[in-house]
Amino acid sequence: MDQEIIIALTKGRILKETLPLFAEAGIEPIEDISKSRKLIFETNQADVRLLVIRGSDVPTYVKHGAADIGVSGKDMLLEVGGADLYEPLDLNISKCRLMTAGLVGKELPQGRIRIASKFVNIAKQYCAERGMQADVIKLYGAMELAPLMDLADLIVDIVDTGNTLKANGMEPIDLIANVSSRLVVNRAAMKRKHQRIQGIINSLSEAVKKSAE
Ligand code: AMP
Repeated sequence: MDQEIIIALTKGRILKETLPLFAEAGIEPIEDISKSRKLIFETNQADVRLLVIRGSDVPTYVKHGAADIGVSGKDMLLEVGGADLYEPLDLNISKCRLMTAGLVGKELPQGRIRIASKFVNIAKQYCAERGMQADVIKLYGAMELAPLMDLADLIVDIVDTGNTLKANGMEPIDLIANVSSRLVVNRAAMKRKHQRIQGIINSLSEAVKKSAE
């Protein structure tokens, strides 16, 4: 079916907030995603299928047109490079902040510093914009441990309540970006399947408005 619409969703905490919005917009998987190990799901709309994948892979699927539409955190779009994607809608879910953080009261060393993060591109850009000399160390999780174990002077991480930082003797320092989940669309698909995709954007936009009421 050439006019089939493939939507790549970010699994995990974002998915839990995405599914109610999609249901309100009239798109629902026909089976319980949380109880399945499948990666592709049929929906109540014969022409719409959902992929459930890692957040860091969503922009890649949409960029290459393997998915027409995606739901991706702004943090991932900044890290993986979402510039060549059309970003028509802020879904206003999974809100958090991308921040630098360090040990409470600890001053940064003079000269070159070490920054640990899973967001290495964002960390490098942050340093470049400020003319800071830094070695950026890639980690895949538990960034808060790095300053405690003297692996890094700063981290770049997602902060929601700030409780995780606090529990590890750290404090947020600089706000890099406010984060929420965004709808992204492949530019060629937007042209080729314009009517159907615009319809989905409009329905989701209504659902976002309704959830804010
Ligand atoms: P908190 O202790 O509330 O500041 O939460 C911080 C931790 O929760 C971070 O290390 C993140 O891994 C995770 N987190 C919080 N909000 C989000 C979000 N919207 N998207 C992804 N991860 C999040």
